[in-house]
Amino acid sequence: MFNVETIRKDFPILSRKVNGKPLVYFDNAATSQTPQQVIDVIVDYYSNYNANIHRGVHTLSQEATDLYEASRQKIQAHFNAKYSHEIIFTSGTTHGINLVANGFSSLLKQGDEIIVSALEHHSNIVPWQMLCERTGAALKVIPMNEDGELVMSEFDKLLSENTKLVFVNHISNALGTINPIEYIIEKAHDVGAAVLIDGAQSAPHIKPDVQALDVDFYVTSAHKICGPTGVGMLYGKEEWLKKLPPYQGGGEMIAEVTFEKTTYADLPHKFEAGTPNICGGIAFGAAIDYTNAIGFDNIATYENELLEYGTKKLLEIEGLKIYGTSKHKTSVISFNLDGIHPYDVGTILDKLGIAVRTGHHCAQPIMDFYKIPGTVRASFAFYNTKSEIDALVEGVKKAKMMLS
Ligand code: PMP
Repeated sequence: MFNVETIRKDFPILSRKVNGKPLVYFDNAATSQTPQQVIDVIVDYYSNYNANIHRGVHTLSQEATDLYEASRQKIQAHFNAKYSHEIIFTSGTTHGINLVANGFSSLLKQGDEIIVSALEHHSNIVPWQMLCERTGAALKVIPMNEDGELVMSEFDKLLSENTKLVFVNHISNALGTINPIEYIIEKAHDVGAAVLIDGAQSAPHIKPDVQALDVDFYVTSAHKICGPTGVGMLYGKEEWLKKLPPYQGGGEMIAEVTFEKTTYADLPHKFEAGTPNICGGIAFGAAIDYTNAIGFDNIATYENELLEYGTKKLLEIEGLKIYGTSKHKTSVISFNLDGIHPYDVGTILDKLGIAVRTGHHCAQPIMDFYKIPGTVRASFAFYNTKSEIDALVEGVKKAKMMLS
C-alpha cells in the first residue's frame, strides 16, 4: 500500500527546516533526496568493507567486488538488459553520453548526419557538437511546438540514409514532456541509425525495458533516482559496445600492457578505466531496490495526482503561465509570473523554505524558443504532498504581491 506519510519517514532531510520553515523540496528534477536505506548502505560500505575492487585477494576487496557486481546485476534486471556486461558504470548521464560520442569519432565522416531534439539538456547537445567538429558530420534538430512536444512529422523528414545516430531524452528536464521514444527508435532503425536515449529524467518515474524498446544506448544518473551523485550507468547493446573503442585508458580496462602493444579487457571493464565510485555503485543498486519496493506504477499514479493538483492550483493565479502543456508529461511544472523574473520568485520561495529551480535548466534552446530568460521549475517526487503544493501556491501568490 502506497502511504506517503510512511514513505516520508524514510527521508531524514524532509524533516529539516530551511529559513525557519519546514523544507518543501521541489527540486527533484535537479537531484532527488536520499532515503535512510541508501544512506545506511553508504555508511556500511565505509564502516565495514571499504577496499579497491577486482584486484585484491583479501576479504575486504572480495566483499566490495561482490557487492559492486551484484549492484550491476540489479541494474541489469531493472532495465531488463540481456547481459550484465551491457551495463557500464559511469559517473552519470553526462559521462555516458560523452563515452558514446567519443566512440563514434572513428565511425562518422563528412556527409553523415546525426539528429538531436530541440528539447535537450546541454549534456545531450554539446558532446555531439564536439563530435561534429571532429568528424565533419552535420547536426540536425527535431523542432518543438508551443506545448513543448517534438514535431514528429519534421523528424520523419530529417531521416535519410545519411542518418547515423539519433539522441533524444526520454523526458525533458525543463518541461517534463515524455517524448515518443518508441516511435523515434523504430523510425531511426528503419534507416539504419543507432539511437541513444538520455534517461536522466525518466529513471525516477518510469521503469524502461531496454530490450522491448530495442534501444542501442540508454544512459542515466543514480542521483535522479534516490541514489548518490557521481555515479550512473550506460546501457549499450553488446554489439555496439564491442564496436566502440574505449573512452579512457588506464588501470582496470586492460587485458595486457607492454610498451609495444596493449590489449583491452572484455566488457564491461573495457569502459571502466580507473578506480570507480565503488560505494556509489553499490548505493545505486540500493536505490533501485528502494524505488522498486515502492513500485513504479504506484509512483506514476501518485505523481500524476500531484501534477494535476499543482497545475490546477497554480493556474488559478492570474498572470501565471505554464510552459510545457503536453498531455504526456511527468510531474514537472515550469512557469513564470507575468513581468517578474524567475530568479526573484525563487529567492522569495527559498525564504519560505521552498526549494525550486530557477533559470534555463541547462536547456537554453528551449528558453530561446519561448523567448524567455528562464522559468521557475517545481518538480515533484513520490515523497511530496498536496499540502506542500498548497505551500508553494501560497508562496507564489506572496511573491507576486511583493514583486508586482
Ligand atoms: N540530461 C537530462 C535530461 C538531465 O536532466 C540531466 C541532469 N539535470 C542530465 C542530462 C545530466 O545529468 P548529470 O549531471 O547527472 O550527468
